[in-house]
Amino acid sequence: MVDVLVIGAGAAGVAAARAAHEAGASVCVVADGGGAAALGSGVVWGVARDPFVRWAAEGRAWRVGGRYVTTAGWLLEGAVGALSSLLDLSSLPAHGTPGVLAIPGHPAWSATLVAQSLGARVVEAPTGSVEGATLREVAARLDLDGAAEAFAHALAPRCEGLSALLLPPVLGLARGDVAERIAAVLRMPVGETAGVPGDAPGVRVTKALRASLPPSVEVLRGRATVRPEGPSGVRLEGGRELRARSVVLCTGGLLGGGLAFGASLHEATAGAPVWTRDRRRVLVDGGSARGADPAEWFDEHTGRARGAGVRVDARGRVVGADGTTPLAPWLHAAGEVCCAPHEGLADTLADGARTGRSAAER
Ligand SMILES: Cc1cc2nc3c(=O)[nH]c(=O)nc-3n(C[C@H](O)[C@H](O)[C@H](O)COP(=O)(O)OP(=O)(O)OC[C@H]3O[C@@H](n4cnc5c(N)ncnc54)[C@H](O)[C@@H]3O)c2cc1C
Repeated sequence: MVDVLVIGAGAAGVAAARAAHEAGASVCVVADGGGAAALGSGVVWGVARDPFVRWAAEGRAWRVGGRYVTTAGWLLEGAVGALSSLLDLSSLPAHGTPGVLAIPGHPAWSATLVAQSLGARVVEAPTGSVEGATLREVAARLDLDGAAEAFAHALAPRCEGLSALLLPPVLGLARGDVAERIAAVLRMPVGETAGVPGDAPGVRVTKALRASLPPSVEVLRGRATVRPEGPSGVRLEGGRELRARSVVLCTGGLLGGGLAFGASLHEATAGAPVWTRDRRRVLVDGGSARGADPAEWFDEHTGRARGAGVRVDARGRVVGADGTTPLAPWLHAAGEVCCAPHEGLADTLADGARTGRSAAER
């Protein structure tokens, strides 16, 4: 029997597990895969004010608004080492021009367009100095010992007179110090642009999140199911039962698998009622959904089931069909599985942390 069992190891799950651990609870995480963070741009969206999200409170690793153009999204810097690939143009010296790196063989990255929009200068990478069929491969190569330094030395003569260097999203796939290593050789700030789904910054965010789980938190691989009407705990694939004083659903939205389509949009792990963001319940009746306009389930821009999900009370407990009574006193939820809108990673982390603490108090 553990105190807190967290289902899912995305942003909400990691934050919940870590906050519950810091509150003195014994914690176990069950996770069956990666989360939505790996598809992110590396830019941290949201307005978290939770002290757990230290980088937000300190305002160092990311900004909302401003002339902020790049980030590696190296989250939780207090936990995994202070480093950011953020290149904030407004903080650069007024004199000098930033450079934008052109890498031969990667037509999707237009250094010319980026340089034009920033008033920067295009810097051609010397032939053979950065290799890889995709930008992810380039990022992985730059992770290798000595590779970032060798690349920077080859590039240095072309960077004279520049105030900073901006790269495509290639500043490391596994390690977070590539920007720092290149900057040390070039002696100027180095940053990268935000990525698209699957690019290196999102992969680094996921690794940073996982690395911030305390070592004493046990992580079990596999899919869990919950029976709110049964004893407090979960059942794993294969039938193993795990008992816990509190369970926190951090199973994500449609991408994470926390929500799924069958006869209707439904919550896939505990069978909890699903609501739209205007607090109308998504009812399933004879195989068809009624009670909500499907258009409300989706964010028209991203296609995500934004704003639809389970509802929780003030203590983060999942509520039942009446909209107020907890489904089970021990069942909590946080993150994108909830119908309260999340403005991206910062809010999701803060929600997970708040709910993890609440679950530890039970
Ligand atoms: C395409 C895309 C791009 C985005 N870009 C950005 C961005 O650039 N910046 C930003 O700040 N935010 C971005 N977001 C939002 C951000 O990624 C999410 O808010 C956040 O990652 C959600 O975290 P989560 O923990 O709630 O869910 P997830 O990260 O989806 O994690 C859910 C986890 O639960 C696991 N799981 C689900 N069911 C079970 C089960 N029954 N048993 C065991 N494990 C289970 C899943 O495998 C997964 O690991 C983006 C989202 C998407 C979809």
